Amino acid sequence: MLESDSDHNLFVNFYLYCFRIFIQPRMNLNVANVEKFKTIRTGEDYIQSLRGRDLKIYLFGELVKEPVDHPMIRPSINAVAETYDLAVREEELASAHSSITGLKVNRFLHIAESAQDLVLQNKMQRKLGQNTGTCFQRCVGMDALNALHSTTFEIDEKHNTNYHKRFLEFVKMVQKENLVIGGAMTDPKGDRSKGPAEQDDPDLFTRVVAKDDKGIYVSGAKAHQTGCINSHWIILMPTVRLTENDKDWAIVGAIPADEKGVTYIYGRQSCDTRSMEEGTIDVGNAKYGGQEAIIVLDRVFIPWDKVFMHGEYEFASMLIERFTCYHRRSYVCKTGLGDVLIGAAATIADYNGIPNVSHIKDKITEMTHLNETIFAAGIASSYQAHKMKSGVFLNDDMLAQVCKHNVTRFPYEISRLAQDIAGGLVVTLPSEKDFIHPIAGPLLKKYLIGRKGTSVENRIRILRLIENMTLGRNAVGYLTESMHGAGSPQAQRIQIQKQMQIGYKKNLAKKLAGITNDIEKPNENSDYFNRVFKTNNSIL
Ligand SMILES: Cc1cc2nc3c(=O)[nH]c(=O)nc-3n(C[C@H](O)[C@H](O)[C@H](O)COP(=O)(O)OP(=O)(O)OC[C@H]3O[C@@H](n4cnc5c(N)ncnc54)[C@H](O)[C@@H]3O)c2cc1C
Ligand code: SF4
Repeated sequence: MLESDSDHNLFVNFYLYCFRIFIQPRMNLNVANVEKFKTIRTGEDYIQSLRGRDLKIYLFGELVKEPVDHPMIRPSINAVAETYDLAVREEELASAHSSITGLKVNRFLHIAESAQDLVLQNKMQRKLGQNTGTCFQRCVGMDALNALHSTTFEIDEKHNTNYHKRFLEFVKMVQKENLVIGGAMTDPKGDRSKGPAEQDDPDLFTRVVAKDDKGIYVSGAKAHQTGCINSHWIILMPTVRLTENDKDWAIVGAIPADEKGVTYIYGRQSCDTRSMEEGTIDVGNAKYGGQEAIIVLDRVFIPWDKVFMHGEYEFASMLIERFTCYHRRSYVCKTGLGDVLIGAAATIADYNGIPNVSHIKDKITEMTHLNETIFAAGIASSYQAHKMKSGVFLNDDMLAQVCKHNVTRFPYEISRLAQDIAGGLVVTLPSEKDFIHPIAGPLLKKYLIGRKGTSVENRIRILRLIENMTLGRNAVGYLTESMHGAGSPQAQRIQIQKQMQIGYKKNLAKKLAGITNDIEKPNENSDYFNRVFKTNNSIL
């Protein structure tokens, strides 16, 4: 009998040691398979679960041996680890009771059972943005799971397939093991004016290349994939509306991130190699960063039980629209980053001795106004959710589009104001090594002093954070991801235009203007105002 935790740990370590030395080599298993015996709970458990997976990752023209220990990759892993630790520290915010498994699960794996669940997703996203100052990478998977719940249900309804049941089994597995799911929608797309079947190279959109009684084989690639190397499973989905000619591209399936035939080519970020230098100042945010990579798929096998769409091309647009509806409101994550940047701007104003100057206070007020405008649309979209046929809740689409469209603009203005307040040093600061140099260091400490009583090092640290978020590594997450992630600005304008019910609005104007002979019954493909005026939103 084991007397204590340390006895237990000794036993487990001894068991794992024997397993690795004597049994594993004969079973052709890797360390990750061994670690999977243990359910992930904390950030540290999660980090250990990523070790030894033997992923094929190219970075700087070389294969990465162990991404967990790579100084440029590790900050992105730390950001995902924080999603686990938050669920331990603030259980109500970052976990939820799942009626699929009957377990308390990480909120990133939860299927929304009420509008309140969606509201809490947004609150969790803002908190994680505040804690990490970067993209914490798990929302694409969360939004893909929720979009697939209703889409697989409705495909089955029409085609008498059994995708929904398979999908629920997958959800049970990932909830029980508490895994990270990456969502892979964006294909490289080649000539943007052409669909998948019209491209010269059919691999420019991910497609089925073979099938047998065990499953299907897919080839192609997925571009800009957030957190893919930090995921345990990746869900492949189509990225554009498909036609009958595109049946081979109408594929949704889940693959383990370490599946045979998967190659990752790591995406560079501005100033990324600073993470490989000594010191913690120049990097700006030493602990956290985002991650994107291109995933190349070479005849990757997906067993039938992990296939959730196969050939039902007419459902591709339903899946994309539902996914982007969830995901465009998930971009309230950026308000958490905005909170950090506003705090940084106020701090540098303080260190520079001008915290009470009227134009500075006004600029910080403007930054806050823009940031809260993003949050307002996102959280309102979640509150205005409705129940789908499958039972999952879907947030309001119009407000989700507005949220994301604001995100394509406001972080740029917030960044501009932060740089205005910070001054030119944000781009002209010497390196950390010069600050500790016996001759250059004292000179810099003399000439880079701010308000009396403030530390030069603190002043430099906050300037480097502003640089990190507006020009450096985490500008990927705060700016360009805000522009293109979940779809470029025009994609939201198209959705807003589709739903704006202009006929209804013209009639409002005509009635008040006294026009009685020109009132038409609007023929509009949107029920936005029905949702606005619905009075029985018993959501909480
Ligand atoms: C940091 C980051 C993280 C991301 N993470 C993920 C992820 O985890 N998973 C995922 O699936 N995707 C992810 N994406 C991809 C994102 O959804 C795409 O970047 C986005 O859909 C735009 O596609 P694109 O980058 O290929 O740009 P393009 O499609 O080349 O768009 C560039 C411009 O061309 C316009 N354009 C493109 N096609 C047409 C057309 N046919 N007609 C008219 N105008 C057109 C666009 O409106 C835009 O203005 C991420 C992107 C970024 C930048
Ligand atoms: S950009 Fe935001 S919503 Fe998307 S994965 Fe990163 S943190 Fe989540």
